[in-house]
Amino acid sequence: MKDILKQFVEISAPSGREEPIQKAIRASIQPYVDEIRTDSLGNLIAHKKGNGKKLLFDAHMDEIGFVATYIDDHGFVHIEPLGGHNPVNLPFQRICFEYGSKGTIGFESEILSKNGADRKEVSFDTLYVDIGARSKNEALSKIRIGETATYDSPFVDLGNRYMSKAMDDRIACALLVKLIQTLQTHHHDLYFVFATQEEVGLVGSKAASYGIEPDFGIALDVTATGFEDTPKGLKRVPMKLGAGPAIKIQDRSMIANHNLNQWIQTVADQNRIPYQFEVLPFGGTNGGVIQTTKSGVYTTCISIPTRYLHSPSEMVDVMDVQNTLQLVKAIAEKEIVL
Ligand SMILES: [Zn+2]
Repeated sequence: MKDILKQFVEISAPSGREEPIQKAIRASIQPYVDEIRTDSLGNLIAHKKGNGKKLLFDAHMDEIGFVATYIDDHGFVHIEPLGGHNPVNLPFQRICFEYGSKGTIGFESEILSKNGADRKEVSFDTLYVDIGARSKNEALSKIRIGETATYDSPFVDLGNRYMSKAMDDRIACALLVKLIQTLQTHHHDLYFVFATQEEVGLVGSKAASYGIEPDFGIALDVTATGFEDTPKGLKRVPMKLGAGPAIKIQDRSMIANHNLNQWIQTVADQNRIPYQFEVLPFGGTNGGVIQTTKSGVYTTCISIPTRYLHSPSEMVDVMDVQNTLQLVKAIAEKEIVL
């Protein structure tokens, strides 16, 4: 699991540029599934044949990133976000462009001192990327307009916890790969969607789900942690690391199916797998678009609690990862009866 996770998080593949991670996942699961295909949006869809109803597991392959918009006369690269970034977190982070150029996100500290501790001025208007170029021409020889970039932040094993960029949502990609590789028996007709462009509006999953027409949908994604987890954690968010997978109650994209959630709790209880509940006052997952596919799908989301979301240092707990794998395995083995 650790090896797959390290491999996946270190691949640079932001929204719209998922091909490198798509190829890595395909190579890892091809021998274990009955059918595998890539659609026109780049979604990777694998099928393991079973009985009766269709159960869809979804994880998104893309990660947040940046796109180069123009290069100024000093050779600085200006960027726009791909997915949700809080600009305040960005000064002096290192990033790596699609064709290998590296740099740091620059920010003129005079703006900070002028405004004291107020960081309102930190925005995509005032941030730029310094790739070490001495001129516009030198920068243009290294970077193309439209080229994407991601955080340059490798995987770190902290013992009981793992830290890296792109845990969102490669941790779930790694979990599904491990599930596919190790599943001995299963009940339903299983579909695995490794979706594109989640971070820019749940794009790939919507099309994939429409084509599959599942009876049941389970999105796997990360979720935020709050006041029980870190010193100044969010008051409205009770989730924490180490307390097991989080069964989604609701977020801004969906209210999860209550009966499916109750069935999942029964499965977790029978297998003595710890779990917590997730009520997230912001954000959404692919569950939101799976749920409204065609005439509707019984859908929920199982989340891996993650600290410092959308940063270069997203952190997960090893036991949560193992327990989430045990839970999705137990779900896939049984017939869902609601
Ligand atoms: Zn995500």
